Amino acid sequence: MLMLDFHPTGRHFLQIPGPSPVPDRVLRAMSYPTIDHRGPEFGVLGLKVLADVQRLFKTRQPVIIYPASGTGAWEAALVNTLSAGDHVLMYETGHFAALWNKLAVRLGLKTEVMGLPGPDAWRHGVRADLIEERLKADTAHSIKAVCVVHNETSTGVTSNIAAVRKAIDAAKHPALLLVDTISGLGSADYRHDDWGVDVSISGSQKGLMLPPGISFNALSVKAIEASKKATLPKAFWAWDEIIEMNKTGFWPTTPNTNLLYALSEACDMLLEHGLDAVFARHQRWAEGVRSAVRAWGLQIQCADAAVYSPILTGVMTPEGIDADAVRKIIHERFDCSLGTGLGKIKGKMFRIGHLGDSNDLTLLAALAGCEMGLKLAGVKLAGSGVQAAMDYFSSHAAAVPSRKAA
Ligand SMILES: *Cc1c(COP(=O)(O)O)cnc(C)c1O
Repeated sequence: MLMLDFHPTGRHFLQIPGPSPVPDRVLRAMSYPTIDHRGPEFGVLGLKVLADVQRLFKTRQPVIIYPASGTGAWEAALVNTLSAGDHVLMYETGHFAALWNKLAVRLGLKTEVMGLPGPDAWRHGVRADLIEERLKADTAHSIKAVCVVHNETSTGVTSNIAAVRKAIDAAKHPALLLVDTISGLGSADYRHDDWGVDVSISGSQKGLMLPPGISFNALSVKAIEASKKATLPKAFWAWDEIIEMNKTGFWPTTPNTNLLYALSEACDMLLEHGLDAVFARHQRWAEGVRSAVRAWGLQIQCADAAVYSPILTGVMTPEGIDADAVRKIIHERFDCSLGTGLGKIKGKMFRIGHLGDSNDLTLLAALAGCEMGLKLAGVKLAGSGVQAAMDYFSSHAAAVPSRKAA
C-alpha cells in the first residue's frame, strides 16, 4: 500500500506555513455525507458559515467564499474592482507580494511596484510613510488601488494594515485598499471594517487550519460600488450573483460542501476559544520559536521586532550552508517538513510554521528536528534552541490554556 510508505510510524510533522496541520475535529466534520447543495439543510449551513466568516474578518459587509485556492481570490479582488490598464500600486514585502504583482500584470493592469531597496527589502514590513508620500505625489489620482500583503508567508513579516489605511487617508487619496491576509486570517489580529480595507483576501489552508480549496474576498461598500463600474472580464469570479444568492445561504454554482463542513467546524473552534486568545496563542508560540533561533545564534529573516509574524518564523542559514540541504536532512531523518525559501531567498533560509493544529510539545519536537538537522548539516550552533524554547514555554504559561483545568 502506497499510503503506508508516506506514513511510516507516528505523525508526520507538517511544519510548513501552509497547508497547516488540520485538527482531527475538522477532518471528521469533512467526512459527513455530502448533501444536496440546493436543499433546505444546505441553506442553513450556508448562512452559518457566511455569518461565521464575517466574525473572523470582523466585518458587517459581505464575504465571498470561492471553491479555489488563494490565488483565485487574488484574481477575484482585482477583476471585480479594476479595469484594463488601471494604475495599481503594489508594495513588495516578499515572494507572495511579487506573485500577486505578476498576476496583476497578466490581467492587464499597469502596476507600479514599490518597496525598500537593497538585499534587506524582504526583511521588513510595509512602510506606510512611503505609500503616503507616493499617494501625495499622485495629485491626478491615477492610482486606483493599493495592494499590500498582511502576513508575508515567504518571510514571516506581518505588516501594519491600520497604518496603511492612515497613510491613504492622510494623502486624501481615493485609491482602494486591497489586502492579502491569505495566511494571516484566524491566527493574527485582523479587522476588515476598523482598518477600512476595501477587499480582504484570504484562504483556507493556513491560519484557518483547513485543507486547501477555499478562499475569500471580504468586501466594503466602496468595493461593491467599484465593482459596478470595473470592466476587467469576470464571470466565475463576479461578486454580484454570488452576493444575491448568498442572501439565502446558497451559491450560483456548486460550492465545496464538505470543505464548508470543515469551515464551520474550524470557525466554531476559533470562536469558542476566542479570537484574542487564539492570537495570543500564536504570539506565544512565535516567541518560543524565535528564542530557539536566537539561542542557535542564527538570524531571523524578519529584521524588525515590531512586525514579527505570529504564524511563521524565517530562519536564515549561515553563509555557505544551503537551507534546502538542511530541510532535506530534517525531512529524511526526522519526518518533519519545513518551508523552503521562496524566490530570491531560496537556499538562504527556511521557514518554521507555528499555525494550525499545534501545541508547545509539537513545536518543541519540530525544533528538536531542526536542531539535529542543523548540526548534521555542519552548522555550528551557539547553543540549544530546544532548551531556550523549553525555558520560554515553561516560564510563560498561556493566558488562556487550550485545555481547561479539571
Ligand atoms: C499561500 C499564499 C498565497 C497563495 O495562495 P494559494 O492558496 O497557494 O493559491 C498568496 N499569498 C499569501 C500571503 C500566501 O501565504
